[in-house]
Amino acid sequence: MPRSNARVRVSRWMETLGGALGAVVFPSDCRLCKALLTRADRLPICDACLGSFPGLPKEVCERCGQPWSVEAAEEESSAICRECRERGFAFDAARSFGTYEGMLAKAIVLLKYEEIDPLGSWFAKQLEKIARGLPEKFGPDLVVPVPLHRARQKERGYNQVDLFGRPLARRLGLPYRPVLLQRKRARPEKQLLHFDERWDAVRGAFAIREGGRVDNFRILLLDDVMTSGATLDACSRALRAAGAKSVAGLTIARAVRQATRVRESA
Ligand SMILES: [Zn+2]
Ligand SMILES: [Zn+2]
Repeated sequence: MPRSNARVRVSRWMETLGGALGAVVFPSDCRLCKALLTRADRLPICDACLGSFPGLPKEVCERCGQPWSVEAAEEESSAICRECRERGFAFDAARSFGTYEGMLAKAIVLLKYEEIDPLGSWFAKQLEKIARGLPEKFGPDLVVPVPLHRARQKERGYNQVDLFGRPLARRLGLPYRPVLLQRKRARPEKQLLHFDERWDAVRGAFAIREGGRVDNFRILLLDDVMTSGATLDACSRALRAAGAKSVAGLTIARAVRQATRVRESA
């Protein structure tokens, strides 16, 4: 196999560099495609995989950030999609870096279960550009992650949103408030496929911690994935009830509606 040959060659070359340096930059495989990594940084994903992350089109609903489908674009002249008009999300805007599929979905699973800090920093860099592109009126003043339930965080040891949330807040020069929001009710264990179940599962599940202050602040609310928008909506309701001036949601990835429809009918 060419890959293992290359690996042996690189390993021999590393040996000649000597112990200390060799230990720092010892070559490893891309965690997504297993290709040998040749970059010097600590990000364990190759450039080809990073470049394959599925992006979103420029044309999205002004409010929820959902890509316009061809049919919707033809039948609607509004800048706001039908779901936003009919359901009325509690957030003022929601945006994402990419679509929740392919290598991006796999990378988010890595972030969720393997606390890979350099991957969190890489996502923070991508999300910074999107956060800076938000309309001026949404600020933000504070960065707040969607929290895990206390029992879930204890079990996992960390909240994966913090891995990109902290470096993102640093990049934006804003305070990061990981304990401002609390999840009072844990997410059910079973896989929730239908949008209605997702909405029921998070309704009233979040609250502001006692003594937490959000009055008149413009909040940037972070999560890893936006599926139905129910979680961002429930968090936004709690933040708004406590006096937040605006809430803009930002996620690494989102499920796009067409894909969801295919999954539900399968
Ligand atoms: Zn790769
Ligand atoms: Zn919308």
